[in-house]
Amino acid sequence: MNDNDRKRLTEWLGECWHEEDANATAQQIRDQRDRAIWAICANCGEPFLKQQGHTFTTPDDMMACKDRLVELGRWEGFIEYCLDQDGDDFHKDITVNPWFDIIKWLINPERFCQLVADFLKEGE
Ligand SMILES: [Zn+2]
Repeated sequence: MNDNDRKRLTEWLGECWHEEDANATAQQIRDQRDRAIWAICANCGEPFLKQQGHTFTTPDDMMACKDRLVELGRWEGFIEYCLDQDGDDFHKDITVNPWFDIIKWLINPERFCQLVADFLKEGE
């Protein structure tokens, strides 16, 4: 997943995509935090840890995306989008009940988050 996708998903989750304000002074960094790891965001003005932020490769991120899809009423549309994907991974394990394989295929944080990003892009 690239930064554009991470930015899209982060903002879609209702959070700020923090970007370092190069003009922020040490004074603005609350509690005299270490400038090597803390920065002031140029978008929301809040201090943030430079290494923090969603990677969209974790189970927590996958759940956040799932909850947001449900909250926005887009879960069904997302599943239909996933069923239209013809990745090799998707079709090679089809066994007795395809849903068993589809669910197994889908519950993969990195894949799931990328599918959400692609799904959102398609709807733009
Ligand atoms: Zn921010």
